[in-house]
Amino acid sequence: MSSAIHPEQIFRPEILGLSAYHVPPATGMIKLDAMENPYPLPPVLREEIANLMMQAPINRYPDASAASLKTSLRRALTIPDDMSILLGNGSDEIIQIIAMAAAKPDAVLMSVEPAFVMFRMIATFTHIRYVGVPLKNDFSLNLELMLNAIAEHQPAVIFLAYPNNPTGNLFDPEAIKKIIAAAPGIVVVDEAYQAFADTSFMDELSEYPNLLLMRTLSKSGLAGLRLGLLIGQPKWLEQLEKLRLPYNIGIMTQLIAEKVLHHTAVLSEQAEAIKSERAKMSTFFATMKNVEAYPSKANFILFRVNKASQIFQALKQRRILIKNLDGTHPLLENCLRVTVGTPEENSQFCTALQSLLNEIA
Ligand code: PMP
Repeated sequence: MSSAIHPEQIFRPEILGLSAYHVPPATGMIKLDAMENPYPLPPVLREEIANLMMQAPINRYPDASAASLKTSLRRALTIPDDMSILLGNGSDEIIQIIAMAAAKPDAVLMSVEPAFVMFRMIATFTHIRYVGVPLKNDFSLNLELMLNAIAEHQPAVIFLAYPNNPTGNLFDPEAIKKIIAAAPGIVVVDEAYQAFADTSFMDELSEYPNLLLMRTLSKSGLAGLRLGLLIGQPKWLEQLEKLRLPYNIGIMTQLIAEKVLHHTAVLSEQAEAIKSERAKMSTFFATMKNVEAYPSKANFILFRVNKASQIFQALKQRRILIKNLDGTHPLLENCLRVTVGTPEENSQFCTALQSLLNEIA
């Protein structure tokens, strides 16, 4: 084979033009950048998981339909009986499956901006045209702009995260309903942060035939397992199921997720602890000068400072890793995002931020 062949000659230009989703190294850091749940499972449950692992037939392929896990999910998340479930290796994979299915030559995938970056990236991966409709300055939905964009671009798919990442707010549910009603295609309400929001579109599924609901176990303490799910009317999920790779959910994920789903009280206690820490952090932000923190219904808080990149770097030097969003979107100028961690982690972050703001801002 000729060594003169280069990726530029073989791969699509839009892939060559992408920068990979950046995951910074975090060894030894206080990790408040990725919306993980900071709490481990209780020791008794971990022991039960260890026993399950010992007996797991890993020489065999996993159950391709993950039937038993789906039954547990249906019960734990109170999924209506007449709705189907599609499982993904994280909800990322589900976004990709939906985009692949919808990527006709002129099809459009629409979301808001700023939103979860994978909506745009996966549109590029799957060769479907992406349209991002700007949010208002306070990060609420611009319904008029959205309805105009829907009329103009006729999107096959609209993704709306509820609460939104990276802004943390819930959009007005009535505005979302108007969007669903106006959409010529499907609308995926991405409830990745539902555990911290106390609200959901689950009850609306039967009312809106073009509505699909996406959830993930990642933010509830199981990010390492990679399990996301899509819930919706069977006519949509039957088609999407054809694109799911046969064994996308490994046996360890199936066994552990099912075990943990029989102990949902553990997960809800942890979510409550995170919500109460979120409230404490919001109070802290409110007392500080030169910081504007945005209201959050998720397990992270977006805030604006004067010199975001300097603050971000200085926190990193103190081994505290958060997310720098400055430069990623005009509405996010000088914005940083911190995930709510344990009380100790949060207080270290708050102390460090306070002293840096005195030094830098
Ligand atoms: N949706 C939103 C809004 C997210 O913020 C994330 C993770 N950052 C995901 C989906 C993907 O989560 P996962 O693939 O871990 O299920």
